[in-house]
Amino acid sequence: MMSSVLSVNVFTAPEKEMVGDRARPFGPPPAFDPSTSTLIFGDEDAVLVDTLATVAEAEALADWVALHHRNLTTIYITHGHFDHYAGLSVLLQRFPDARAITTPKSWELMRAQSHLMPLFRKRWPGQLPARIVLPEAYDDEVFTLEGHELRIIEQGRTDAVDTTSLHVPSIDLVVGGDVFYNQCHMYVGDTTPESRANWIAALDRLAALKPKIAVAGHKKPGAPDTPQAIEESKRYLADFGRLQESASSDRGLYDAMTELYPDWVSHQAWLMFGFQ
Ligand SMILES: [Zn+2]
Repeated sequence: MMSSVLSVNVFTAPEKEMVGDRARPFGPPPAFDPSTSTLIFGDEDAVLVDTLATVAEAEALADWVALHHRNLTTIYITHGHFDHYAGLSVLLQRFPDARAITTPKSWELMRAQSHLMPLFRKRWPGQLPARIVLPEAYDDEVFTLEGHELRIIEQGRTDAVDTTSLHVPSIDLVVGGDVFYNQCHMYVGDTTPESRANWIAALDRLAALKPKIAVAGHKKPGAPDTPQAIEESKRYLADFGRLQESASSDRGLYDAMTELYPDWVSHQAWLMFGFQ
């Protein structure tokens, strides 16, 4: 039974400064991209997609969710990168009845990368929750909100391995996870031509759904949640592949990419050389 019409709201946490081990030879001081969480809600209930990373972000997000006066039934985590689930314990403390889920493969990645948490704590000293809670592995590809289907789309390797997006057909919504970004330089440094081909196929899969609303996991604050971000992410991957081949140095690649995308959030453009 579909009695209600679903709505969607997006919370954007701003860029956060990062403590590095050494100064970078060029570019702005390193920071981490602005990140989004998406609330999908009906008359009574709500689903939250991704939970941000720091305590401050997660608490602000929990306050914002509470303002919607809905029962938070499910928290869905799109992929196994810490910036999308480290805040989960804060959300679950505020909404203990919510069920937090992710795909079995993303759960595996979270487990496998738990040894990286001390590194992240070094990058954001005193800012991440003391206790990191993982969502449970959810085996089905569909869950529901007031009778509406929310469909998990397995995307394979994009900016992480075994990533997903979420599709809500009844409102033509796609929550991309990190399969597309919106006016932020993308985490392309650990990609290969093959993985970028898979990434582009993942973007085509989303475009084929013809979404009206498309929410990126990382977006410039204020950027509209339109499917244009899917097309721009495709272009970015193609530009990076081309310029990486022709660039004579890291500096040259960095300058060429930031020149092509002058208005995009660039503090995280260092990720074109991998996470360091
Ligand atoms: Zn991310």
